[in-house]
Amino acid sequence: MLRKRLLWNIFLPFMTVVIVALVLITMHTSRSLRGFFYEQMRTDLTNRAQLLIAAVGPLLDAGDHEAIQTFAQEHGHSGDIRITVVLRDGQVIGESHDDPARMDSHALRAEIAPALAGRISDTIRYSATTRQHQMYVAVPILRNGEVIAVMRAAHALTTIDQALAVVQQRIALGGVLLALGAAAVSFGLARGISAPLRTMQIGAARFARGRLDTRLQTRASSEEIVALAEALNAMAAQLDERITTIEKQRNEQEAVLASMVECVLAIDRDETIIRLNQASCDVLGLDQQTVLGRSLQESVRNPGLIQLARQALAGSEPVEGEIILRRDGERHLQVHATGLHGPDGQRLGALLVLNDVTRMRRLETLRRDFVANVSHELRTPITSIKGFVETLQTDPPPDPAASVRFLAIINRQADRLQAIIDDLLCLSRLEQDDGPASLAREDTRVIEILLDAVNVCTARTTDEEVSVRIDCPPDLRLPANAALLEQAVVNLLDNALKHSGTTREVLITARAEHGRVAITVRDEGRGIAPEHLPRIFERFYRADRARSRALGGTGLGLAIVKHIAQAHGGEATATSTVGEGSAFTIVLPTDGRVTIDT
Ligand code: ADP
Repeated sequence: MLRKRLLWNIFLPFMTVVIVALVLITMHTSRSLRGFFYEQMRTDLTNRAQLLIAAVGPLLDAGDHEAIQTFAQEHGHSGDIRITVVLRDGQVIGESHDDPARMDSHALRAEIAPALAGRISDTIRYSATTRQHQMYVAVPILRNGEVIAVMRAAHALTTIDQALAVVQQRIALGGVLLALGAAAVSFGLARGISAPLRTMQIGAARFARGRLDTRLQTRASSEEIVALAEALNAMAAQLDERITTIEKQRNEQEAVLASMVECVLAIDRDETIIRLNQASCDVLGLDQQTVLGRSLQESVRNPGLIQLARQALAGSEPVEGEIILRRDGERHLQVHATGLHGPDGQRLGALLVLNDVTRMRRLETLRRDFVANVSHELRTPITSIKGFVETLQTDPPPDPAASVRFLAIINRQADRLQAIIDDLLCLSRLEQDDGPASLAREDTRVIEILLDAVNVCTARTTDEEVSVRIDCPPDLRLPANAALLEQAVVNLLDNALKHSGTTREVLITARAEHGRVAITVRDEGRGIAPEHLPRIFERFYRADRARSRALGGTGLGLAIVKHIAQAHGGEATATSTVGEGSAFTIVLPTDGRVTIDT
């Protein structure tokens, strides 16, 4: 619909009313004036006719028609009126502006007929004789109550019409001036009303665009406009406050959701994603902006998750389940799905909370494997001990040397049991410590640790072909737990000696580099195949199970080394080439306290 501006809405009707009123007034005034002038003329003509009757009466009585004609001509021209005398039968006997002999019967003329009937009558019509509009007034001439003739006086209307035209022109001019004045006044008035409203409109549009910090000016306006502006300002202030509060709450919610480790994902009743936090995006591999408004099925292609979501949408109870996500490896996610309800209790959708339990599941598996491994490791020597003890009890060998051999085996297996238990206790103690922060450390000379470890190990070995060489700055120092560090070096050296063939050399190097101390035990033994290297530091992992057992290994030595390094805030690494040898390195941080005395 075409909408006009308020200015025109006020101004145009106002002007229409003014113009219509002016036209009506002009018309009414000119009609009244015309009526007034005509009435004047009618009275004048009647009076004149009556005066003429007084003069014509005797001539009529005498039947002197010629004298009547002369009279009519004289008085007609001197009085500037047309005079006609008509007999009862309609014959014209006197006419100021024509020859009566040529004139037809006037008995049926509109003004004559009523006069012949005894009434003064008048009419306005076109005269064929004078060729103009005229007012005729006919007065009966009576004798003894009988109409004997009619005196008609007539006058042209031209002068009245001309006078009226002048008057009408003046009225019209006055009307136009009045209309112009009214137009100016009404335009001013309309502007006075519409201008502040336009200011309101601009202000309201600014509010609609979100500029709620601006205010409408209320000065120099009418009471209603000021009240409207104040109401709009109050509305804007309240909206501003509410929006600020809502934004603050939303930011808080966003912050809470964003900082949650759990994945939070909300869907509506049509399974469309309506909200999700960063954790969900990271874990499920989604882009927040892209998936919002998309369906869950389309975005997360995991049947387990979709089924749980559908169960939560369909039922009234929360549902729980675990799903496996195959993305960058396997991830176990525990899902809690529950219905989402609005303030009035109506169902809006469902909320899914996903907990990453991969680590927990991995630890459970590790624990299960560890228990199975420990049981297995313990069972082997115990079975052996039990077997030989039973043999000695039930069926003792006749040869005492055999019994001694049996007892030696029992003793060796008991030692093995002891070694496993000692290593397990050692690991358990290392795991119980709270890490590097709580480890008791003192300034230690590395060379002393290495020498002690070599002494311990060479005392155990009988293989004199193997030589151990130490390459360490004599005054290299670092803060360490000397006993644990010595045990780690002993374990590495033990392995190197065990797995070196004969006539080989083991080299222990210690170096300070980049604020850390690296101790490497390098042998020239059989080496470790690449597929075993990544798992070599796991508990009970052995590259060569049979050989390790034969050499009396517990499978825990390297795990202990790794834990000791980690307890110091460092790490243990291994490199190896099959047939050429292995190198195990412990790298320990020095907290900037490495010193090499000079
Ligand atoms: P173990 O008590 O069996 O020696 P470890 O944890 O010390 O247990 O070592 C784990 C496995 O790593 C060993 O069984 C062995 O197969 C392999 N290994 C360790 N050190 C060496 C080495 N220097 N050379 C070759 N293999 C080694």
